[in-house]
Amino acid sequence: MITKVSKLLVVDDNIDYVNFIRRALDAEDYKLSIALDGKTAIEKAAKENPDLVLLDLKLPDLGGEEVLGRMKQDNKDITVVVITGYGDDQVAMDMMKKGAVDFLTKPIEPQILIKAIKNALEIREAQQEDKQLELYPSLDRFFPFFAHEIRNPLHAISGALTIIQRRSNLGDEVLAQSINIINEEIQHLNEFVQECLNFVRPPNKVRFVEVDINEVIRVVINIIAHIFEREANTVRVVTEMDPSLPKIYSNYEEIKQAFLNIVKNAYEAMPKGGDLIIRTVQKSDSPYSVEIVFADTGVGIKKEAIPSLFDPFFTTKPLGTGLGLAMCRRIIAERNNGKILIDSEEGKGTTVIVKLPVDHPSEASTGMRG
Ligand code: ADP
Ligand code: MG
Repeated sequence: MITKVSKLLVVDDNIDYVNFIRRALDAEDYKLSIALDGKTAIEKAAKENPDLVLLDLKLPDLGGEEVLGRMKQDNKDITVVVITGYGDDQVAMDMMKKGAVDFLTKPIEPQILIKAIKNALEIREAQQEDKQLELYPSLDRFFPFFAHEIRNPLHAISGALTIIQRRSNLGDEVLAQSINIINEEIQHLNEFVQECLNFVRPPNKVRFVEVDINEVIRVVINIIAHIFEREANTVRVVTEMDPSLPKIYSNYEEIKQAFLNIVKNAYEAMPKGGDLIIRTVQKSDSPYSVEIVFADTGVGIKKEAIPSLFDPFFTTKPLGTGLGLAMCRRIIAERNNGKILIDSEEGKGTTVIVKLPVDHPSEASTGMRG
């Protein structure tokens, strides 16, 4: 989901082989770390948290099986590709049962090595996404219950407040201000509950239509100008829209909601003003998708926060819900088979890149279109 350089831990006692791997991966954008024995490998795996371990089975101190077992003990999600010598297929199969994702037999062609690494990293990414999704089902049940429990008393409070307001002497400044505070807080709670409900609302298949992304962006800019009236003079929005952008097949309301969340975050990141550039392009290398780029010059995001951005409830704002990006990911990645990536530099700004397929593959294949 998030663009970053993958960290590889290469475990092999044969320095010539380590150098071979280094050369093979020279043109790839990986950060390599080396361990020449099993103990060092286990320590490095725990300390460096690599995205992938290339583990040679024959090490001077410990057996490959033990190394794998101990790495898995420290971190059950660690991704390991085993490298064996000729004739070790049975051992390799045992390693797969113990949780290795792939095995390669020496001698290894550089292209095969690269492909195996890419594959394993993709598997890892998918596993990590699944882990995130495990969080959702409980929220799906909890939020509607929660919304109901909050909204009922809120309505009662709001009604009672109207009566108080009507019967009070609003010439009393302190009283009038107190009533205002209660009203604002009620509104905040209402919005929070609404955001929770939006998060779990099931996809509305009937609403899948042809959507003009450029048009959605114009609408979003309009809505946001009303929400952030105070920022109207300090935040400059520049659009660079591809006039020949193909329409996509999607749920208009949901795409609008996702873009609103992204643009809202951009405004909230620029309290002292700044630029927000929104660009739409049809990528020539992927003719069937459109790319939407939202680049702001706001406060940016701390490096440590990047992995958590899409987690429900992750927020750095005093009144944030942390549901905005979680919802974006649900809409864009899960319901539209698209992608959302975030790149940011603290103090400089943030770029959110959304990719959406022009045709909706899962819809098309299940025939829900007609
Ligand atoms: P919320 O806006 O309620 O905090 P989100 O899920 O929308 O929740 O965003 C989560 C966090 O991601 C924010 O609290 C903020 O730290 C960070 N973030 C998102 N977009 C931006 C941005 N454009 N600039 C800086 N930080 C951002
Ligand atoms: Mg937000």
